Amino acid sequence: MTFDNSYARLPDKFFQRIHPVPVAEPRLIALNRPLAAELELDLPEDDAELAAVFSGNSLLPGTDPIAQAYAGHQFGHFVPQLGDGRAVLLGEVVTSHGRRYDIQLKGSGKTRFSRGGDGRSPLGPVIREYIVSEAMHALGIPTSRALAMTATGETVFRETDLPGGVLTRVADSFVRVGTFEYFAAREDEDAVRQLADYVIDRHYPQCRDAANPYVALFGAVCRAKAELVARWLCVGFIHGVMNTDNTAVSGQTIDYGPCAFMDAYDPARVFSSIDHQGRYGFNQQANIAMWNMACLGGCLLPLFHADPEQARKEGDAVIEGFAPAFTARYREGLCRKIGLEPSNHGFELARNLLGIMHRDRTDFTVTFRTLAESTADDAGLVGLFSSGEDIRAWTGSWRAALRDQGISDDAAARVMRDANPACIPRNHRIEEAIRAAEDKGDFQPALRLAEVLARPFEAQPGNDRYAAPPRPEELVHQTFCGT
Ligand code: AMP
Ligand code: MG
Repeated sequence: MTFDNSYARLPDKFFQRIHPVPVAEPRLIALNRPLAAELELDLPEDDAELAAVFSGNSLLPGTDPIAQAYAGHQFGHFVPQLGDGRAVLLGEVVTSHGRRYDIQLKGSGKTRFSRGGDGRSPLGPVIREYIVSEAMHALGIPTSRALAMTATGETVFRETDLPGGVLTRVADSFVRVGTFEYFAAREDEDAVRQLADYVIDRHYPQCRDAANPYVALFGAVCRAKAELVARWLCVGFIHGVMNTDNTAVSGQTIDYGPCAFMDAYDPARVFSSIDHQGRYGFNQQANIAMWNMACLGGCLLPLFHADPEQARKEGDAVIEGFAPAFTARYREGLCRKIGLEPSNHGFELARNLLGIMHRDRTDFTVTFRTLAESTADDAGLVGLFSSGEDIRAWTGSWRAALRDQGISDDAAARVMRDANPACIPRNHRIEEAIRAAEDKGDFQPALRLAEVLARPFEAQPGNDRYAAPPRPEELVHQTFCGT
């Protein structure tokens, strides 16, 4: 195992060097062994030692733990100093294939950036992030991953006393739009440049050869972000707190807080208990991502050109590419969901279907999954809607489009089964898993759910309860961040 901590070699102002604060009675709840193998981690055998490592009580050799400094726009308002207030970056692992990963503990105690917080996390949010981030990975969506979770044996006070936990998470990096904002707000152009160079070297090395590497970097981040949000929309995912500090420049999904997958389709759906205005609702996410990219562009302006007006022009040209990039990926994704090659007509058909689904609030996941079985016979699909008329008319146009594109029923069904998961992390199942863990110390439901969600595109006979939408009494109306 090779740790090489490049971020910790940046100047001191980028972070605070700090050890995780030890916890009372660490207990290992889950270790993601396939991920540990991918990282080529050389881990202790013993559960007690593993618990010590993944709670921060003992450090793997070669780590150089730091808390990263960052700022961010939270719900549109700039906060010049945020930073890892309850997380510690242990270091970077470099595999024999040359891939570099950040390994971070979340819930690992106070740092210089804690701002009055306790630096800890309740178990609930640890379990939610573990399950949802691994499910996102299995769905093929770029994301930070969950390597382990531990219970701390300590109590965390929120509205009530809750058992504490630590999540070990892994990402291409945890550099955020807010990291750039931290230095831009301090008018530290050297640091912005240093960070931009760091991000180019680490994530976008091809930008180095561009006429203007920083403009190229901005374009690459915008495209990655546009693609990411398009993928979120295609599985009904709502991030919930798309603040710039929760926006990774690598293009991975990070910082799972009050996130949720939609059950009944409603494009205006909001879950987060702290999102009173619906800023981060489902259908706002592309706009907000673009807004966040504009914040990044603002930080990079001095690097684009010495002449501010010219710099702004360069930045504007990149931002103008965001919406078309998003639309192209979203069109491609939605067309695949109905078994078609990307086309404007397919896009329109898919959006018409969403319109019919919205009217009847049909389950997003079940409706698309059922479509894969509906190329020849639409009885199952029609049964999901209150009236058969609109959906029958729609399937008529859809079959005609499949024929026009020369796509056989079998081929369409295959594409749709690969694009439309049978199983998503449903809020009521996550809630059930959290309740069992927090109230009874029973982690089996969480582990079982994670196991099922590792194969989201497979029909899993016997696991219907994980695929099924919530009954009315099981509905979860809000999600909480546990801050
Ligand atoms: P989040 O809402 O998780 O994106 O966090 C926003 C900011 O608040 C980050 O700087 C976090 O490190 C900080 N923060 C959140 N929860 C805590 C906590 N319990 N203790 C200290 N800092 C926290
Ligand atoms: Mg955050």
